[in-house]
Amino acid sequence: MNTQTMENKKTNWLTQHNRPVLIAGPCSAETEDQVLQTATRLFRTGKVDIIRAGIWKPRTRPNSFEGVGTRGLPWMQKVKDLTGLPVTIEVAKASHVELALEFGIDILWVGARTTVNPFAVQEIADVLRGVDIPVLVKNPINPDLALWMGGIERFEKVGVKRLGAIHRGFSNFGEQIYRNRPQWQLAIELKRRLPDLPMICDPSHICGRRDLLQKVSQKAMDLNFDGLMLESHITPDQAWSDASQQITPEVYGALISDLVIRQEDPELITDHANLYELRKQINFIDDELINILASRMKIAREIGKFKKENNITILQNKRWNEILDKYVNRGMEHGLSEKFIKNFITSVHDESISQQEQIMMNEKDSE
Ligand code: PEP
Ligand code: MN
Repeated sequence: MNTQTMENKKTNWLTQHNRPVLIAGPCSAETEDQVLQTATRLFRTGKVDIIRAGIWKPRTRPNSFEGVGTRGLPWMQKVKDLTGLPVTIEVAKASHVELALEFGIDILWVGARTTVNPFAVQEIADVLRGVDIPVLVKNPINPDLALWMGGIERFEKVGVKRLGAIHRGFSNFGEQIYRNRPQWQLAIELKRRLPDLPMICDPSHICGRRDLLQKVSQKAMDLNFDGLMLESHITPDQAWSDASQQITPEVYGALISDLVIRQEDPELITDHANLYELRKQINFIDDELINILASRMKIAREIGKFKKENNITILQNKRWNEILDKYVNRGMEHGLSEKFIKNFITSVHDESISQQEQIMMNEKDSE
């Protein structure tokens, strides 16, 4: 029996009662009424295990709503009293942790803008030395696996036992579809390296828009994530932060009901299970590969337009030879054969040229 496979299948501190673990709640706590109503309606869906809300909000630009602050903490206590569910909030500095502990918050999460900063993570970890509270660490804004792991390790080192990771996607200039590109392979690699660490997906911050939430949530389930964190608001369009990605508790309930949760098939827990997992990972990587190639061709077409406007030839031999040499060397450093990398780069390049030729032809036709 393959041990890696077994480890992937067993439960962890978060999923011991059920999988997926469902975390939902507003992006931000705005008013007591909004928090309590959201929590009650979420509770009524029967599809939530933990209620979330942002009390202090890290905003990209100043003058945005920066959270209600400490006065929102008693609202979270009321949520616990009303629903009996544990509650979670984001902490970004030592004073947030102290207040969270004082007000009986059950689980802390560290936001993407904090994980990027080892000083900030260490400050939070230092106040948690000897404190038995679970901590979920979101991925950093940039796709840096070492930084994400480093954040988790800082909590491990001060003795936090119940740790988890939240995958919320990565910022990418010019990204067209997602608010934060998922780059699933990073989460998959983290799961591979730390198989006992619960991995939660946050489709709300990946998508940034409601219409993609279902698909991304399903994808996370198909990738065997341990849980989901989704933003829900009683009147999403009026939300004070992240309005376009929030959904009502009832829409949330329907989204969860529509998920296909593939139970682990005992038949698969054989030596083939590892093969199955690996094939799934390969499929997702191939998916990404196609997306990346499509983005590359889009840029090639832009270059084609520029060349046309500026009367530059499509093929510039000097640049092409430099590219080929560079990537053959890089590929060989990673154990790829010279023949494969030459064929691959040449074929990508051929496709670029033919796309650029089409641009030139089309523009000629329309002249
Ligand atoms: C949030 O969960 O509301 C939040 C601010 O998320 P992130 O840190 O992923 O941007
Ligand atoms: Mn948000």
